[in-house]
Amino acid sequence: MAPLNPEPIVDPLTGLEATVTFVQPYQARKPYQCPGCATTIEPGIGHVVVVPTCATDLRRHWHRRCLEWELRHGVRRRR
Ligand SMILES: [Zn+2]
Repeated sequence: MAPLNPEPIVDPLTGLEATVTFVQPYQARKPYQCPGCATTIEPGIGHVVVVPTCATDLRRHWHRRCLEWELRHGVRRRR
């Protein structure tokens, strides 16, 4: 998985600094529940993973569009 965005983000769920990686369709082998829209990301669908830098076990799989919306509208970014 290659970094999607080299800049760390603030994870909308945990408030922790996190990195975003893109999961290619062929790498997506399991269904995941997207925290943004609460629907299932089916296997074979490219999506993103938000990995908190200090708590990688809290990583969550998102639709890319849902995460982008959440980052823009959901929480205020830390400065
Ligand atoms: Zn979603």
